[in-house]
Amino acid sequence: MGKATGFMEYDRQEESWIPEKERISNFQEFHKHPDENTRKCQAGRCMDCGVPMCQSAIELKGMVTGCPLHNLIPEWNDEINQEHYEHALSRLLKTSNFPEFTGRVCPALCEKACVLGSLDGNPVTIHDNELFLIEKAFENGWMTPKIPKIRSGKKVAVIGAGPAGLAVADQLNHRGHLVTVYEREDRIGGLLMYGIPNMKLDKKIVERRRKLMEEEGVVFQTGCDIGKDVDFAGLQKQYDAVILCCGAKKARTLNVAGSEECEDIYYAVDFLKSATKDLLRRQKDEWTISAKGRNVVIVGGGDTGNDCLGTCIRQGAKSVTQLEMMPKPPEKRTADNPWPEWPKVLKTDYGQLEAIQIFGADPRIYETTVKDLITEQGKLKAIRTVKVRFENRILKEIKGSEKEIKCDMMLIAAGFTGCEDYVAKACNVNVTKRGTVETAEGTYHTSVPGVFAAGDMRRGQSLVVWAIAEGRHCAAEADRYLMGYTPLT
Ligand SMILES: Cc1cc2nc3c(=O)[nH]c(=O)nc-3n(C[C@H](O)[C@H](O)[C@H](O)COP(=O)(O)OP(=O)(O)OC[C@H]3O[C@@H](n4cnc5c(N)ncnc54)[C@H](O)[C@@H]3O)c2cc1C
Ligand code: SF4
Repeated sequence: MGKATGFMEYDRQEESWIPEKERISNFQEFHKHPDENTRKCQAGRCMDCGVPMCQSAIELKGMVTGCPLHNLIPEWNDEINQEHYEHALSRLLKTSNFPEFTGRVCPALCEKACVLGSLDGNPVTIHDNELFLIEKAFENGWMTPKIPKIRSGKKVAVIGAGPAGLAVADQLNHRGHLVTVYEREDRIGGLLMYGIPNMKLDKKIVERRRKLMEEEGVVFQTGCDIGKDVDFAGLQKQYDAVILCCGAKKARTLNVAGSEECEDIYYAVDFLKSATKDLLRRQKDEWTISAKGRNVVIVGGGDTGNDCLGTCIRQGAKSVTQLEMMPKPPEKRTADNPWPEWPKVLKTDYGQLEAIQIFGADPRIYETTVKDLITEQGKLKAIRTVKVRFENRILKEIKGSEKEIKCDMMLIAAGFTGCEDYVAKACNVNVTKRGTVETAEGTYHTSVPGVFAAGDMRRGQSLVVWAIAEGRHCAAEADRYLMGYTPLT
């Protein structure tokens, strides 16, 4: 342990964000660059617990706390505290393929399980320490291409270049297989590129990783839609194994009359993707789908809704309201939700904080949904909302609670219901009742021999860290299938 008394000497100090009023003028990342001295002290708060719950990833009441990658957190915290940065990096990279992504966007499942957090509610800043370390490594030129010395002669196709596909490709390439990643978009990254907004994850960070992986031998074929541009059976003949990592982008629809036809209603991911595409090719301040001057209602109070909120504010929306069906969570853990369970508490994220600063009020309205659309000549003018409540798990409307809200643009961020039908059909794989690709229990093997699945496509809409963890496990199984044994974990 670097500093035995660190947890008593130093208070928790997170990396600060650029103030709301300043950061909403652009789409640049809002986290400030990690400061070395602060991170060193913060890493010294790690107590090197006998049972480090942060790296355990245990499931409690259906939710996981602790790092799904089993990152060796106490080890690299200790090395950071002692300024042994290169050694700390080698320990981090042992379990994590892309800490520059998780260091920016991971909700830090590790911190929710940190033992220090159980004592005083101020866990070690694991997430910020991780980002500090990987960015220091890139800055110092330690992230050089590691080209495999021996090739196995086996060829693998990965379909989908989101975090799951990238993790599979990285693992199998380093194992010596020849990996080609097929991606239907013009850029790699999946939701890292065309979902999570630039202010949370700068797209240059994704491109930086692409360059490194290409130098290491991974081939990316972008603009290539399997099932539309390329025949799946042809791929199976060409490759020794095929791995499906196509995500779970089938959006939950809004069950409101006229919503499918109304041209002022968009799905959240379509809106966010369009905003990032505009930013990347931008000459002028113009948006293909614009919230500028509009009264926007976002249906869905979760993280995707929050990303829409931050994007609408930056585009100059007149007002933004976020509707959430569930009741407002408590500010603090309740007695039936003790540490180290995932804390079911109120989270006010960056977009909501910005809305509070700009519009003077929290944009979220709880236990409320859309009842009707009010349109004039096909244009959305307002919506009627209604209060709802779950009674015996059935959602019931509360009579007389209807209200009208001005709305000329609506974004649906109500979650996802599984992978897109055409992909599963084209690959001829079985699909579960949840709309995800079926794999044999406890494995990543689909119903088709030699075809594997990982990430959201198998797990359902989840988190970047889970996509990477699934990618790693799936790569190990595919390797065992190809070689008869595997050193991958
Ligand atoms: C708006 C939004 C914000 C989010 N923010 C966070 C966050 O802050 N932190 C976090 O941890 N998680 C976040 N998530 C969840 C996280 O992004 C996903 O869990 C993760 O990206 C899943 O990775 P994946 O590789 O399985 O799928 P995806 O990232 O969806 O990637 C799948 C890829 O497959 C490609 N593809 C699909 N079909 C084909 C085909 N037929 N041929 C070729 N290519 C194909 C797609 O174009 C895509 O690039 C967010 C999700 C959304 C929607
Ligand atoms: S990947 Fe997420 S859960 Fe794991 S150590 Fe990093 S921030 Fe924590």
